[in-house]
Amino acid sequence: MEYMEGMEIIDSNMMGQVIDAMNSYDYDRYTENDVRSALARETLTPEDFAALLSPAALPFLEDMAQRAQIETRKHFGNSIAMFTPLYIANYCENYCIYCGFNCYNKIRRAKLSSEEIESEMQTISETGLQEILILTGESRKMSDVDYIADACRIAKKYFKVVGVEVYPMNSDEYAKLHQNGADFVTVFQETYNSDKYETLHLEGHKRIFPYRFYAQERALKGGMRGVGFAALLGLDDFRKDAFATGMHAYLLQKKYPHAEIAFSCPRLRPIINNDKINPKDVHEPQLLQVICAYRIFMPFASITISTRECERFRNNVIKIAATKISAGVDVGIGGHSDGEKKGDEQFEISDPRNVDEVFKAIEEQGLQPVMSDYIYV
Ligand code: SF4
Repeated sequence: MEYMEGMEIIDSNMMGQVIDAMNSYDYDRYTENDVRSALARETLTPEDFAALLSPAALPFLEDMAQRAQIETRKHFGNSIAMFTPLYIANYCENYCIYCGFNCYNKIRRAKLSSEEIESEMQTISETGLQEILILTGESRKMSDVDYIADACRIAKKYFKVVGVEVYPMNSDEYAKLHQNGADFVTVFQETYNSDKYETLHLEGHKRIFPYRFYAQERALKGGMRGVGFAALLGLDDFRKDAFATGMHAYLLQKKYPHAEIAFSCPRLRPIINNDKINPKDVHEPQLLQVICAYRIFMPFASITISTRECERFRNNVIKIAATKISAGVDVGIGGHSDGEKKGDEQFEISDPRNVDEVFKAIEEQGLQPVMSDYIYV
């Protein structure tokens, strides 16, 4: 997959390291003893992380949850950060066969104007939230860098923490978003199996696997404070994908020690016009195993639990390992301020609770909802 014109190339062998580690990860060779010794270690090696993601670790889920909980409280106290995603556009030039926004899916497309973005953000900020994640489909034509930068500028008026989850960009473009108020960039690699990746991403710039892989590094070079990682669990072999996700974050953290690292743990969700796509093999115990393994391997990393998961699971996982939770989520375009949606949703959500309801649920677990954990001076 050749880089397309204009795509910045980073001189690094990190992708090769991650792919090699993933390809040689034979999770069936790990034993109970490997899992026990991983759990006994204070600081885990990649080999320990591999053991915790293996089938041999599944019977140790309770032990893993206990260890994860200790690490979470040690590094994050009782706090659970709250945020909401805001989709400002759903145009997309890519053909990802598992996503409701893909360019061939016949859905209502829309893009919010500056005034509409401001109105949505004002309404969201009135709920008390101080962190927002701005999302678009991946269309440079319909949502160019200036458009996203403008959304960041507006967001900064209403929120203390602004993140973006948009198409991968060059470092100077990330710098522009950063200058306009964004501090966090999340890019899902979807799957780290590059052969499978090609069969799932049939058209568009997203087909360029390495350009996507190095997005977090370009974001850090652009001045971002933190970067988020995820594989879409269920697209391919979830154990290998989770292992590669952890290795990607681990190696980037070694290279950029100041970077704030975050994990998301999305599972496939049903989408409009495609009811055949469902999570493959990733049931709740396996998902919890992955989340606990991330936590124990990289105890200081933020872990987000989204509304792809149900209320019960989300309430439980914030007690164990997740440190950030979304609330008042609408994955369509518009609808926060006047209830009128302009564009269709990316996927079906499982937890429709509003900000107050999630806030109370966090308190009921004996935890502290936190709207912003960062002070700019
Ligand atoms: S996953 Fe992202 S890039 Fe792919 S179709 Fe959906 S919005 Fe577009």
